[in-house]
Amino acid sequence: MADKIVIIGSGPAGHTAAIYAARANLNPVMFEGFMAGGIAAGGQLTTTTEVENFPGFPDGVDGTELTNLFRKQSEKYGTIIHTETVTKVDFSTRPFKIYRDDEVTEAEAVIIATGATAKRMNVKGEHDYWQRGISACAVCDGALPIFRNKELAVIGGGDSAIEEANHLTKFGSKVYLIHRRDQLRASQIMQKRAMENPKIEILWNTVVEEAKGGAGGLQSIMIKDVVKNETKELPVGGLFYAIGHKPNTDIFKDFLDLDETGYIITKPGTTYTNIPGVFAAGDVQDKNYRQAITAAGTGCMAALEAERWLEAQE
Ligand code: FAD
Ligand code: NDP
Repeated sequence: MADKIVIIGSGPAGHTAAIYAARANLNPVMFEGFMAGGIAAGGQLTTTTEVENFPGFPDGVDGTELTNLFRKQSEKYGTIIHTETVTKVDFSTRPFKIYRDDEVTEAEAVIIATGATAKRMNVKGEHDYWQRGISACAVCDGALPIFRNKELAVIGGGDSAIEEANHLTKFGSKVYLIHRRDQLRASQIMQKRAMENPKIEILWNTVVEEAKGGAGGLQSIMIKDVVKNETKELPVGGLFYAIGHKPNTDIFKDFLDLDETGYIITKPGTTYTNIPGVFAAGDVQDKNYRQAITAAGTGCMAALEAERWLEAQE
């Protein structure tokens, strides 16, 4: 017999959906992934240390600890969690089919919460200073004490890079926006914002080659002007990547409508996808906010919408 609801993914969106679905007696089954996309079950928060903007934790909370709490709460209300990565789906007929290699599970409704992965640069030294000065999320980490009143750098030339650089000017003494070309990709309005901010300096035609530091974390980066072919050391206390995200949607692309960058398109204001009975929540359908709390919010919406949809089928 098909399960009522299968949830694919295990970040704040997946677990919030699980908690709501379990409390509605829908006996949800979750596939939490096994190093899916290189990230541990629990999602992106397992790659960070201190989370300071999730309500309920006035002293902050370790990212992995927070995801463990999500998982505990999902299980407490009866979610069955499998530590397996979904490798294929078939949404062409109902019940939907969810594969882990040769094993298949059927579901009347599916909630997709597979998240997105922030792209990394893999520059020399990145591994040593990851989360010790290097981050892929300025909105998440920018306010941490280690970045206060320091010179900081953001890599990228898109809207995210400018948004992050602007955000960081609240905390750092100066922000370098490092872009590999001589033109920004960002929208005109965002470009204007960067140009008019006296605390932002754009380094054009520049790439980062190495991150350097010591016991206290990142201290400087080696940058290269690719036009002049000149390399120099730039002292910075923080380096933020804003070079794009990759939504984890490869296995859904034959069935679901995706936008040009691979995000699942949901009906505005809802978690409905183009296939009735398939819902999407969290970063996999959100390229604007990309926060744990917004992922959790849409996870709640997906469970409520799936519950109502299932009721309407009876
Ligand atoms: P994700 O957290 O992306 O989790 C989805 C998970 O599902 C995957 O990681 C994987 O484990 C699993 N999965 C993927 N594919 C499959 C599959 N095929 N089968 C089974 N399982 C699968 N936000 C904040 O609000 N505050 C912060 O301080 C903060 N800090 C951050 C720091 C870093 C370094 C990063 C990268 C992000 C940070 N964020 C923060 C953003 C936040 O982590 C994300 O917005 C949030 O985790 C998105 O949740 P999600 O549920 O959509 O998916
Ligand atoms: P984008 O793909 O738009 O931009 C990524 C940037 O990173 C590009 O400038 C790219 O350079 C650069 N880049 C990519 N790879 C590397 C690399 N290996 N080394 C150096 N630089 C690199 O991603 P965003 O996250 O900025 O935006 C994604 C989408 O979200 C866009 O549609 C954007 O408009 C939207 N968005 C909108 C916001 C808003 O309206 N407020 C805020 C944030 C995002 P190059 O230009 O040379 O390719």
